[in-house]
Amino acid sequence: MSDDEDKRADDSAAKGAGKGAGERAGEGAGQGEAITPDVIVVPMRRDNYAYVVADESGRACFIDPCEADVAERVLVERGLTLVAVLSTHYHSDHTGANLALASAHSGLRVLGSAVDADRIPALTEALRPGDSFSIGSLSGYVLDVSCHTRGHIAFVFGRALFTGDALFAGGCGRFFEGTGEDAYRALYQSLGRLPDDMLVYFGHEYTLRNLEFAAAIDPSNAAVHAKLRVVRSLVEERRPTVPTTLGEERAYNPFLRAHVETVARGVRARIPATDLHSPASVLAGLRRLKDSF
Ligand SMILES: [Zn+2]
Repeated sequence: MSDDEDKRADDSAAKGAGKGAGERAGEGAGQGEAITPDVIVVPMRRDNYAYVVADESGRACFIDPCEADVAERVLVERGLTLVAVLSTHYHSDHTGANLALASAHSGLRVLGSAVDADRIPALTEALRPGDSFSIGSLSGYVLDVSCHTRGHIAFVFGRALFTGDALFAGGCGRFFEGTGEDAYRALYQSLGRLPDDMLVYFGHEYTLRNLEFAAAIDPSNAAVHAKLRVVRSLVEERRPTVPTTLGEERAYNPFLRAHVETVARGVRARIPATDLHSPASVLAGLRRLKDSF
């Protein structure tokens, strides 16, 4: 299987820190009492996932759509009115439908990171980490998970977490525009504040391959092997492996376990003579190994 996470090494000069709409509207606003919406999982392209959430009156937003025809079909089938598109980051396999949807739905809001404001097609609202926003009667907020790209953000609605390419089931996206330190900030500090029962909706179906890597790095971890069995049968039945929970990910995803000695040891065994004693350096080592796995 040809691994992974947008092969494009993409020119990494993330330009322009556009002006944010609203300054940090209360970090974590929307936490706690916010409604957790039902989430419609919409496979796109070969292995991308886009998602739809809608309020009780059918006002919907699409998260990371890259195929407008697929998106339109889902909206019609479900009888939903598209009011917004949310972009976790600018890569075209997450934003490819923005322009077509914006021209087909007048007044469509397109929300994405202020850091990538000039690279997200049809953007209308530039967001900063901590900003909150509403989609109909639903409220969500923004977390900084930059590393895969400099402006990568995650969206949170109640207990639903949309991670794009920052965190996958069993893995994470390539560090195109970030370092081990950035990954540590994203995966440990930003996501680290969220509880185990958060539902994780990720950007690609890479789960099986990610867990095979996890099993190679951390072979004594029973949680990896248990999840591998579940995922193998889901994949055999061509069913999506999404969502998982943050608690599960913390049990088997090596990129959330860089602080665990067995994981660090697994990395050190493969990258000798390197100082791999901080979780950030273990993360960088893990990513290097996964890139060629
Ligand atoms: Zn990407």
